Amino acid sequence: MVDANGRSVGRSMRILVTGGAGFVGSHLCERLLADGHEVIALDDFSTGSPANVAHLMRSRRFWLVERDVAQPFDYEIDRVYNLASPASPARYQCDPVRTTITNVVGTLNALSCAERHGARLLQASTSEVYGDPEVHPQPEGYLGRVNPIGVRACYDEGKRCAESLVMDFHRQGRASGRIARIFNTYGPRMALDDGRAVSNFIVQALRGEELTVYGSGSQTRSFCYVDDLVEGCVRLMEHPVEVGPVNLGNPVEVTVLELAQEIVRLTGSASRIVYRPLPEDDPRQRRPAIELARRSLGFEPRVALRQGLYATIQSFRAALLGAGECPRRGEPALAS
Ligand code: NAD
Ligand code: UDP
Repeated sequence: MVDANGRSVGRSMRILVTGGAGFVGSHLCERLLADGHEVIALDDFSTGSPANVAHLMRSRRFWLVERDVAQPFDYEIDRVYNLASPASPARYQCDPVRTTITNVVGTLNALSCAERHGARLLQASTSEVYGDPEVHPQPEGYLGRVNPIGVRACYDEGKRCAESLVMDFHRQGRASGRIARIFNTYGPRMALDDGRAVSNFIVQALRGEELTVYGSGSQTRSFCYVDDLVEGCVRLMEHPVEVGPVNLGNPVEVTVLELAQEIVRLTGSASRIVYRPLPEDDPRQRRPAIELARRSLGFEPRVALRQGLYATIQSFRAALLGAGECPRRGEPALAS
C-alpha cells in the first residue's frame, strides 16, 4: 500500500481492477502488484486483451477473470478501481447503448460490491464530462458543455451518471468514493487499432501510410503518459479525504497537427499528413487545470510528450513486428 506521496506503507490489500486487461488497467495492475497487493482484473476483453496482462500471470497474487461488468459480481476486496469502459471514440460509438450500460450499470455493480465489503472505489471518469468546453483550461468546478443527444453522449453522459452514482453512494455512507477525471492518456499497450489520435498516427507513420488529421488539426489536446496517470490514480485512491472529482492529466497542450508532426519526426517516417472531416461534437480545446491534484496529491506529471511518444513508438514498433509486419524503419530522432 502507498501513502498520498506514493511511498509504500501499510498492509497489503486485495484490489479489484475492472477493465484490468485494457491499456490503462494493465499498467495499473502492474503497479499495484509491485506495491505488494493482490489484484483481480475483471474484463470482458471487448477493447482489451489477456495479452496485456500475460506478463502478470506468473504472479500468485494476480487473477484475471473474464466477465461483463454490467452483470452483478462479488469479490471480497478492499479497493475497486472501476475502469471498465471503452475509451476511444471510435470504439465507444460502435455500440453506444452498450457503452451507456457499461458505464451506468457497471459502476452501480462495482459500487454495490464495494458497499458489501466496506471497500473504497475509484471511478475512472473523463475530461469528456466537460464536453466541448467554453472554459479553458478546465477546472473541476466547471460543469461542462455536453451535447446530451450527440454521438459522444453514450460515453459522456454515461460517465457523468457514473460520477453521480459514486457521489450518492458516498453521501449515503454506502461506499467511500474517489473520482479521477482523466485527460487524454497514451503509452505502450494502447490497442493498435483503437482509432485514437496517438495510436492511429504512430501506426500510420510506422507503416508509411498517410497520417489522417481530422479537421484542420487546430483542435487541441493535452497528452499524459500512462505512468504519470497511474501514479495520480494511486495517490487519489489512498488520499484520506479527497472525494470529489480531481483532474488527472498533463497540462502541456498541443494541437492535433503538432502531435502528428512530432510523431512523423520521432518515427523518422516519410509519411504525409492528410486532412479528413472533423467528427461530430469533437471538442475544440482541452487542457486540465491540475492545481487541485498538485495541492492535495502532490501530483506532477514527469514524462514529457516527446519522451513518452518515443517509448510508445518503440513499443508499437515491437508490436507490429510481433504481428508479422515490418514497419518502415526511420531512425528515432529523440536525441537530436
Ligand atoms: P481500454 O479500452 O484500453 O480499456 C478498457 C477496458 O475495459 C478494456 O480492457 C475492455 O475490454 C474493458 N471493458 C469494456 N467494457 C467492459 C465491460 N462491459 N465489462 C468488462 N470489461 C469491459 O481503454 P483505456 O484507455 O485503458 O481506459 C480505461 C478507463 O480510463 C476507461 O474507463 C476510460 O473511460 C478511462 N479514460 C481513459 C482515457 C485515456 O485517454 N486513455 C481518458 C479518460 C478516461
Ligand atoms: N484525431 C485525428 N486523427 C485520428 C484520430 C483522432 O485527427 O486519426 C483527432 C480527433 O478528431 C480529436 C483528437 O485527435 O480531435 C483526439 O482524438 P482521440 O480519439 O485520441 O481522443 P478524444 O480526445 O477525441 O477523446
